[in-house]
Amino acid sequence: MAETNRFMDLALAEAEAAKDRGEVPIGAVLVLGGDVIAQAGNRTRELNDATAHAEILAIREASRRLGQERLTGADLYVTLEPCTMCAAAISFARIRRLYYGAEDVKGGGVDSGVRFFAQPTCHHAPDVYSGIGEIESAEILTTFFKSKRDFS
Ligand SMILES: [Zn+2]
Repeated sequence: MAETNRFMDLALAEAEAAKDRGEVPIGAVLVLGGDVIAQAGNRTRELNDATAHAEILAIREASRRLGQERLTGADLYVTLEPCTMCAAAISFARIRRLYYGAEDVKGGGVDSGVRFFAQPTCHHAPDVYSGIGEIESAEILTTFFKSKRDFS
């Protein structure tokens, strides 16, 4: 559990860094054999790329580093429940376990919305563990969106 918290803390740090860049504060960390192989925060605004979610960027970086399209045996830590696009990418990358912080009832695709991993068209589903660092993950987002409202 200590390891789990350590990796989620790293994901939270990526979320904080994303917030400082003016991005939606979500962070992701990929771990293989106890080592961090990629970490990323949202960069959709910076890259002008609607697909530049933290999970996608982390998967791309890890695949590039390892020189392989599948990340079999890797575990993904992300501060918020992944959206449907990211859930699909997690499935395609053959990620072993998904640990996420806060639930995303409005935009999530794992335990909310389309529940991608439960669909018959999903050919690889990771083991899913939710609620890790949930309070901190949700707090960063709530503060971020509240400050947006206050200034807009
Ligand atoms: Zn996503």
